[in-house]
Amino acid sequence: MVNKSFSSGPFKTFYLVFAYILAFSLWWAYLLYAKNETAFTERIELQRITFQKDNPQLDYTASKDYKDLVSKYNRQKFMIVTEGGVFILLLLLGLLRVRKVFLREMELAAQQRNFLLSITHELKSPLATIKLSLQTLVKRKLEPEQSDKLIGNSLVDLDRLESLVDNILFAAKIEREEPGLGNDEINVSDIVRAVTDRFVHNKKAIVITGEIKPDLYLHADALGFTSVVINLIENAIKYSPEQTAMHVVLTEEGGSIVLKVADNGIGISGEDKNKVFEKFYRVGNEDTRKTKGTGLGLYIVKRVVEIYKGEISIKDNTPKGTVFTLRFPKLN
Ligand code: ATP
Ligand code: MG
Repeated sequence: MVNKSFSSGPFKTFYLVFAYILAFSLWWAYLLYAKNETAFTERIELQRITFQKDNPQLDYTASKDYKDLVSKYNRQKFMIVTEGGVFILLLLLGLLRVRKVFLREMELAAQQRNFLLSITHELKSPLATIKLSLQTLVKRKLEPEQSDKLIGNSLVDLDRLESLVDNILFAAKIEREEPGLGNDEINVSDIVRAVTDRFVHNKKAIVITGEIKPDLYLHADALGFTSVVINLIENAIKYSPEQTAMHVVLTEEGGSIVLKVADNGIGISGEDKNKVFEKFYRVGNEDTRKTKGTGLGLYIVKRVVEIYKGEISIKDNTPKGTVFTLRFPKLN
């Protein structure tokens, strides 16, 4: 979609203007070159006639005047070629730069459109399910088992809605650069444990194992750190087949506190590893993608990690899946 609009409309005109400037510059460079050559030949001829008249017995091509003229001519030729070359190179670099910025802007605009579409869908569908469940509960006398199931499903949908709204609010908070992020001293071991416990009974029955070293403290804030852990675990579950295992590790390594979230899911390809942290970026395209989401999760994770002066990296897990590793400087 991006490429189609990219090659049309304003960009076609841009390419045309570029092609015209290029052709125009090449033509003028050629004219200058040719004129220089004619001028040189004529000057040589003129000088030769005068020289031979004054020194009939000497060879003109061995004279200093001739050599000076040839070297001046060579300098001018060199100047035309290099200056022309530099001009064309700068023109090309400019074009590539504008093309890159333009492409980026178009991609962002397309992602924002997708974001609006997916957010509307993500809000609507759980709301509709919850409404239907509640209407069924009100209208019919159900067996306790059936009503428990309806309530359970509604709670899962509410959890999803809550984390969606949390992500949107949190992203807005980061964008406004609100103070307060990363200003507290918090026990991250407690947060990782609480979040992991919350996901133990997940819908896809993914087994979550963990090695969480107790009483590790960071210069961070509870809201941000919780959001980081939730997003990583949610992704690991969402992008893994049912009944697989994932592993959460919180430990100390040298001067850092390290959080690892490893899954055995679908994995992230090399090129996408650099892109998944971009706002609204989701792997694949809207038509073929099966999972729901807004593409905000990892953007938040990355920004929060940066605020805490930490680092994040993505590696492939073996035999398959992904490992997210986060390193934070330990409190002194
Ligand atoms: P949201 O988290 O906002 O609901 P999302 O999960 O699509 O939506 P991100 O969490 O930012 O957005 O992830 C961006 C993309 O990276 C995802 O769409 C998915 O394609 C890919 N991704 C993220 N985590 C994993 C993972 N653990 N395994 C495989 N792919 C992943
Ligand atoms: Mg996500």
